[in-house]
Amino acid sequence: MKLITIIGIGLIGSSIARIIKATDDKTKINIVDTSNENLEKSKSLKLGNIFSSEIDSKIEESDLIFICTPISAYEKIFNTLSKFKLSKTIISDVGSSKVKVVQLAESILKNKIFVPGHPIAGTEKSGPENGNKNLFKDKWYISTNCNLCTEKNIELVNSVWRKFGSKTITMKSKDHDSIMAITSHIPHLIAYNIVGTASELEEDIKSEVIKFSASGFRDFTRIASSDPVMWRDIMLSNKEEIISLLAKFNNDLKQILDAIKKNDGEFLVQKFKKTKEIRKKIIEAGFDKN
Ligand code: NAP
Repeated sequence: MKLITIIGIGLIGSSIARIIKATDDKTKINIVDTSNENLEKSKSLKLGNIFSSEIDSKIEESDLIFICTPISAYEKIFNTLSKFKLSKTIISDVGSSKVKVVQLAESILKNKIFVPGHPIAGTEKSGPENGNKNLFKDKWYISTNCNLCTEKNIELVNSVWRKFGSKTITMKSKDHDSIMAITSHIPHLIAYNIVGTASELEEDIKSEVIKFSASGFRDFTRIASSDPVMWRDIMLSNKEEIISLLAKFNNDLKQILDAIKKNDGEFLVQKFKKTKEIRKKIIEAGFDKN
């Protein structure tokens, strides 16, 4: 490829730039970001060859465009992209939910090629200084179907991610969103909620909470330090799946609450044994590391 454009040079965008730079000296990188601060940082980190604060006609020379902004910026970006001649360019994204993104793309990016995607890799940090060329190594990359792309387009994007070190899979957007709701979105929501509850406790208790946070709570605080705007967008763009799974979650929680009220220790042991098995399977599959 001659030119790859990255729109949004944050954690994910800069990790893409780093891996391209490390493995491919022929491809030039065009970086577009509305944050002057992040654009300047990406210049000093030498993450690209061309830097702009807005999408302009240079985008038409791109073989591939990665949209790496929060999902709430997509509508504006799609509308801008729709004005350019991008007949052979593949537009792709990395957004953490897919059904709403695909609907939006199909309604705006008519006659363009769009391959929806999501790398299952990341951290709680944001910004170009926190990117890492190994972020995607051995992690899954999920592409999903869309009326704006062919299987060949999807395979081309998957092959780029395999070059980035990822394992690739293609599925329906709805399946992606259900899986992510339970494995990522609801865990984040629980972390935000439990840390919020703790922080609202009275001042003296709060200091104790911090003092004893070396246990499970510390992991919640790490997750709950993730970017608020990005997570607002994820929760709102995958709301149907999240609402439906939260109803089931609340029901299961009520069963635990009832067992505690009734001193039903046997129910609790059976419940906790079952979840211990899931952890064992994750370790056996080698997915227990970041
Ligand atoms: P990030 O570090 O916050 O970076 C996003 C960048 O996009 C920021 O520089 C932001 O500027 C810029 N931006 C916002 N609106 C823009 C626009 N209209 N045009 C150009 N640039 C714009 O975000 P990230 O963590 O890389 O996440 C990016 C996407 O990846 C999200 O959609 C997220 O769902 C997805 N994702 C994230 C992770 C993760 O762990 N972080 C994992 C997988 C997928 P401002 O700072 O001024 O807003």
